[in-house]
Amino acid sequence: MKLSNQELNQKLIDLSRKERVLVNEILDHLKEVQKRRLYAKLAYSSLFEYCVKELKMSEGSAGRKIAAMRMITEVPEMEEKLKSGSMHLSTLSMAQRFFKHEPYTKPEKVKLLTSLAGKSKREVEKRLCTLSPKMAKRTDVRQISEEHTRMSITLNKEQKAILDRLKELKGMREEDLLDWMLERCLKQVDPLKKKPRKTKAKPKARHIPMALKKALYERDGGRCQFKVNGKQCHSRHGLQVDHKKPYALGGRTELENLRLLCPEHNRLMAIRVFGENKMARHLSNSPGKCGEAD
Ligand SMILES: [Zn+2]
Repeated sequence: MKLSNQELNQKLIDLSRKERVLVNEILDHLKEVQKRRLYAKLAYSSLFEYCVKELKMSEGSAGRKIAAMRMITEVPEMEEKLKSGSMHLSTLSMAQRFFKHEPYTKPEKVKLLTSLAGKSKREVEKRLCTLSPKMAKRTDVRQISEEHTRMSITLNKEQKAILDRLKELKGMREEDLLDWMLERCLKQVDPLKKKPRKTKAKPKARHIPMALKKALYERDGGRCQFKVNGKQCHSRHGLQVDHKKPYALGGRTELENLRLLCPEHNRLMAIRVFGENKMARHLSNSPGKCGEAD
């Protein structure tokens, strides 16, 4: 490298400035991808999955960029600060998480964000955790070998009391109690584990009997069935049962007319059938609240 020390330093200053401009451009484009729901149309179950798999970002980088993009969308005044380097991406992303817990007004948000400009990640974290104890990380999951994962959870007073009572009632230690709870819980919520009661199929009713749900989970392999250009969304998260021909349009509740979709693709299909306006009420809801949106 034939650069003088001064040139080398200047070169890096220029490159860092370009990097900040580029990050801003990425955030701008991510905002548009979210607005168009392009990630869902490309068979991804979330913007996060799109960033990691399509754009090859690391999980940490994807999470930070998405959170920062949402923060800038809410408080556009921060865009210039990010470009100039006086506000870090990690600050915006932590602040976005903070405001989820703390209902600040827009002027209060601007004031707090401005006060965080130029601070290190640790300083920002400390300040936000002082203002809201909910910011403190409650769960830490780390895979420590092929077979084992270490998980530490911070319990509040009520949760600890319930845990202690369960330990008394079952006469078990934490590890055995966890085994017992997980097994029991899975039986309750996993259609593949539940024992279906013998009920008569009612194709004209909207309700999906457990036996039918079980058959559907088995047929669809417990994964989202949305496909585009031969690519399938394989999400297993929060799956919902979708009527291919919508129930509202006379679609029947029988295996041939049903499929599993993740919340994002269930919404996308509903928008395609009923239009954005009619679905607006559902779209403002979080994925889990959308229900069977057909
Ligand atoms: Zn999906």
